[in-house]
Amino acid sequence: MLMDALRGKKVLVTGGSRGIGAACVRMLSDMGCIVGFTYLGSEKEALEVKEDADGDVFVYRADASDHDAMKRTVTEFSRTGEHGFQGLVINAGIYLRKSITQMSIEDWRRTMATNLDGGFIAVREALPFMKDGSIVMISSQLAFKGSNLGSDYAASKAGLLGFARSLARELAPEIRVNTISPGYIDTDILAGDSDHKRRSRIEQVPLGRIGTPEDVAAVVAFLLSDQSRYITGSNIDVNGGLYIH
Ligand code: NDP
Repeated sequence: MLMDALRGKKVLVTGGSRGIGAACVRMLSDMGCIVGFTYLGSEKEALEVKEDADGDVFVYRADASDHDAMKRTVTEFSRTGEHGFQGLVINAGIYLRKSITQMSIEDWRRTMATNLDGGFIAVREALPFMKDGSIVMISSQLAFKGSNLGSDYAASKAGLLGFARSLARELAPEIRVNTISPGYIDTDILAGDSDHKRRSRIEQVPLGRIGTPEDVAAVVAFLLSDQSRYITGSNIDVNGGLYIH
């Protein structure tokens, strides 16, 4: 049913070369969507994601924080197939993992530029091409509980929550806007973990495992589809019960 709900929809995903974004591209393409995605540094991975997909997938190199690059990307994608698009997934993000005393103003601005300004830029440029549809932003559990090694990151992700809730009001009823707050998800963000650190993360999760990128992609697909037609301004935690609030 979910597959039928998404077939033929056009969706743009930011940061689709790796991790959660790549899982979204693959899953949405498998479900019959026409998918466009951006990347910045991982060209090889981006091309692999495109090659692996059976359906129509379009790749764009565009820094999420670069307004002109995103404008070009959005305009180009909107012209593929039927004009415009129905889904936008704001996923591109960085986590520098620095304490406040290590963090420079350049670090702070870089995090904000990618994680928060990137959300604004994508929405601002996409809106003229989205008559109706659904926007999904990837926030984080750290937006709620804070981070002792990433106050910039937590602030940027909390910013996305407020941004999304405001847009949900402003853009209704044509466009729904929701956030997903993942917990520990097995991507490059956790790749530096020692075995001990990984075990201690798992011990904190009531569902007893680290999440997969597909765990998040499945909820993205749901929020993009008409199956979630009466949901806007909501946040869905995809965290195995790690943080229950
Ligand atoms: P990864 O580091 O695995 O992937 C990040 C993706 O974002 C890559 O495709 C990368 O592209 C892209 N990206 C980063 N910066 C830019 C930029 N300036 N412009 C365009 N693309 C960019 O991260 P995850 O998949 O783990 O994370 C995806 C999202 O989920 C992020 O927003 C993250 O904050 C959030 N999240 C992740 C959690 C986790 O545990 N993994 C937990 C909570 C939230 P490229 O490599 O080509 O530069």
